Amino acid sequence: MKRLSEKIASVAPSATIAISDKAKRMQRDGIDIISLSIGEPDFDTPRHIRDACIDALNRGETHYAPSNGIPELLQAVSEKITRENHFSCIPEQVIVTCGAKDAIYEAMEAVLNPGDETILLTPAWVSYEPCVQIAGGKVVNHTINPKTFQLDDSLLERVNAKTKMIVVNSPSNPTGAVFDTKSTKLVADLCTDYDIYAMSDEIYEKMVYGKEHISLAAIGDMAQRTITINGFSKAYAMTGWRLGYAVAPKEIIAEMSKVQQHSISQATTFVMWGGVAALKGDQSCVEEMRKEFDRRRKYIIAELNLMGYETAPADGAFYAFVKVSGDDMEVATRWLEKGHVAITPGSAFYAPGWIRLSYATSMDRLKEAMGRIRRVG
Ligand code: PMP
Repeated sequence: MKRLSEKIASVAPSATIAISDKAKRMQRDGIDIISLSIGEPDFDTPRHIRDACIDALNRGETHYAPSNGIPELLQAVSEKITRENHFSCIPEQVIVTCGAKDAIYEAMEAVLNPGDETILLTPAWVSYEPCVQIAGGKVVNHTINPKTFQLDDSLLERVNAKTKMIVVNSPSNPTGAVFDTKSTKLVADLCTDYDIYAMSDEIYEKMVYGKEHISLAAIGDMAQRTITINGFSKAYAMTGWRLGYAVAPKEIIAEMSKVQQHSISQATTFVMWGGVAALKGDQSCVEEMRKEFDRRRKYIIAELNLMGYETAPADGAFYAFVKVSGDDMEVATRWLEKGHVAITPGSAFYAPGWIRLSYATSMDRLKEAMGRIRRVG
């Protein structure tokens, strides 16, 4: 038979799969596995958001909607961006997608030509590189300083005539680091000086602990060349709803819209009404979840440090990023097999020698997990 797509064959399966498959097998065998490997809040979606979706369903919002999103949600996003992220945004600069991941994929397709280079700041989340590859682009990795987790001038060394885009993810999955003004400005200057587009994935913006989240598009003229990615999965505990969005100049949105029109068509109509309720409703649910994450964060970081582990500055998101001596895959396997705790090896994020622990799980389970890790060592 003829060979399947070489482009897709070249995309590596996620390095997390081996460990998570094993964890699932053990769970099926009846073993009580505590999973600290999940990137999703353990909370239920707040009531008023669920109700808005149910109401929409009951009043017949079950038909096709405009491809870029229902006007009410485009308006709500543009108001939210202007108000909270401090750059001006009109509804024509918004596209609503099936999760932030879909927005990332569409943006890469819209911006990259074959051979175009995209700078990835590593450690980085697992899906950026495959999205770049599927769009025909090439990833150039730049390792962030593993002490400060901030940027410095060495980033300039990655730029050449083929550089088309840089991906920024602050607060970061997997490190939990939050870029300060200096790092954000450095990216902005680089993009302006060398005519580079930026993708700023701000999906963890609400999960910051004593640090300020800075939107890249709010710096200088960056709104002209930035695709801001965001969504509802993390801030509103809506992972399964598959609802996200991108904000960018109208010309970029128009190109992303073509990708969307010919693939997914639109986000689910009644789900988008949940999104309107999330953005326009009472925001205290977001703060309550943030406070609970902060409590767990303080606990887990203190425990890990007491055990002698070095941790990255856990200023944002809901991950502890931990340095281990030796092979991270070996540590992940040992903790799973002997301690029945599932974590993610840093190799999955271009960071061998580190591991990622998600504290988006209940405090009781977290305490139990720490006890097990302490026993296994
Ligand atoms: N960006 C980052 C950094 C993420 O961690 C995730 C989810 N793990 C996403 C994007 C995708 O989120 P969504 O559920 O909205 O597709």
